[in-house]
Amino acid sequence: MFNLILFGPPGAGKGTQAVKIAEKFGWKHISTGDILRAEVSQGTPLGLKVKSVMDAGHLVSDDLLIAIMESVFLKNNTIVPGFVLDGFPRTLNQAQELDKMLQRHGHKLGLVLALEVDEVELVSRLIKRSQDQGRKDDTEDVVKNRLVQYHRHTEPLIDYYIDKKLYKKVYGVGTIEDIFDQLCAEIKP
Ligand code: AMP
Repeated sequence: MFNLILFGPPGAGKGTQAVKIAEKFGWKHISTGDILRAEVSQGTPLGLKVKSVMDAGHLVSDDLLIAIMESVFLKNNTIVPGFVLDGFPRTLNQAQELDKMLQRHGHKLGLVLALEVDEVELVSRLIKRSQDQGRKDDTEDVVKNRLVQYHRHTEPLIDYYIDKKLYKKVYGVGTIEDIFDQLCAEIKP
């Protein structure tokens, strides 16, 4: 089983590229943001709990995210040849728990592939997305907060994965197809 993390700040294009990678390699795309948004829109107890946190652009607690990831992994790990993780892990604690979870099941991470996009471009993409999709967490203040959360909690993972020699990066500005080709060139299952 190949486990790929598609890494990068909000607005880098992880969702778009993760879907394409999952389709090309026959892997399962797991977007923790999509999972949480589905819980919110269905009004489940979990959704009610996380809605205000997400709307403010904060991170949902590690415990909840780790439990979600464990349950999705257990549901799929015997039937899919790989995972593309999009939006997880977002903290050092989540990254360490992911390592332990994979290890418990006899698996490991194959690659952490990062999309690099400069901050000005990210803000303008996220604000445009809020207009196109009506996402509550894409207003200007919330966008800025999501980037603050990224720098504070998620960016430190870059060194964590560089140390493990798992980190590769691709410049995430250009056409979707060009970026996709560059990402695929780094993936050697
Ligand atoms: P995304 O669509 O990946 O940008 O995620 C949308 C929102 O869901 C984030 O701003 C967080 O509030 C929450 N979220 C998604 N994934 C995680 C995670 N791994 N850890 C904490 N919160 C998350």
